[in-house]
Amino acid sequence: MIVLGVESSCDETGLALYDTSAGLLSHALYSQVAMHEQYGGVVPELASRDHIRRAIPLLQQVLDDAALTRDRIDAIAYTQGPGLAGALLVGASVACGLGLALGKPVLGIHHLEGHLLSPLLASDPPAFPFIALLVSGGHTQLMRVDGVGRYTLLGETLDDAAGEAFDKSAKLLGLGYPGGPAISRMAEFGDPLAYKLPRPMLHSKDFNFSFSGLKTAVLTVVKNHPGNVCEQDKANIARGFVDAMVDVLVAKSLSALKHTGLKRLVVAGGVGANRQLRDALNAAAVKKHFRVYYPELEFCTDNGAMIAFAGGLRLKQDPRLATHDYAFNVRPRWPLSELTAPNESAA
Ligand code: ATP
Ligand code: MG
Ligand code: FE
Repeated sequence: MIVLGVESSCDETGLALYDTSAGLLSHALYSQVAMHEQYGGVVPELASRDHIRRAIPLLQQVLDDAALTRDRIDAIAYTQGPGLAGALLVGASVACGLGLALGKPVLGIHHLEGHLLSPLLASDPPAFPFIALLVSGGHTQLMRVDGVGRYTLLGETLDDAAGEAFDKSAKLLGLGYPGGPAISRMAEFGDPLAYKLPRPMLHSKDFNFSFSGLKTAVLTVVKNHPGNVCEQDKANIARGFVDAMVDVLVAKSLSALKHTGLKRLVVAGGVGANRQLRDALNAAAVKKHFRVYYPELEFCTDNGAMIAFAGGLRLKQDPRLATHDYAFNVRPRWPLSELTAPNESAA
């Protein structure tokens, strides 16, 4: 079965074709980062308008790359939520309009399920069950994953998401948007002993996180800094920030593994691309005898491949999940806990 995936929840338009037997056939992405950069963050209305411009050319591109015609698509999976309402509506209307025109069924996918399952697209995928550390721009969660749609939330952030803390701290340091990759590069040159920043909730006996205090600590350092913050000092602060963030993410992941007795950790979402986090988790995995799995770097941040893939997995278990009812609605807020396993929803 060939599934077209459509992602448009934020500032990336992603399309992909996934074959449930042959794997990923093609994928294409347009990132609006350059457009939003001048505003220091995503402007929702501009995002929606740009998705409209990009969607159909990207569709043609994935078809061309896979050497397929539209009629070969068997089903269309689109991001139904969570995300920006206007942006989601563009992807949903493209998917449902195409479905109607081609007479092919459509299926709404939860964006975080896409992120969560994206490491399964890699060449050496983890088996269920595993612990997932989902660290994206809008979410930070630790989950126990027993199968598709079988997610148990262990803990989550009480305030800012990890990616959000990266972005806001980078902004305070004048490093531009999105800040994650920039702050990570800067930190490479920083002195780890220069700034010891707080590690919020490191010793709380749960699996929750809190990152707004860490961001405030960066603000305080910058504010109290005599004169302009020079490049080396920026690097030192970046290093202090990244070390604190990584310490907390690693410690909480280790306690989730210990608590559940599981030996597989999956890292998903944009912050999963972070080099320092990967290095620290890889070192911990050797020491504590567990395995850690990541999505391919290009599938850490938003993309259509993860949506096509999640759609394919669900439809493989229950083809009746796709519908010929094209009256769509998007879900800008949609707790992952509301998802059910494909066979359960069929029952
Ligand atoms: P959500 O999926 O929660 O709705 P989102 O889609 O905006 O949010 P992603 O696309 O998964 O989030 O990830 C984007 C986030 O990842 C941004 O906050 C960005 O700064 C961060 N990020 C990307 N690369 C890196 C990196 N190398 N180091 C740290 N953070 C990074
Ligand atoms: Mg993005
Ligand atoms: Fe995302």
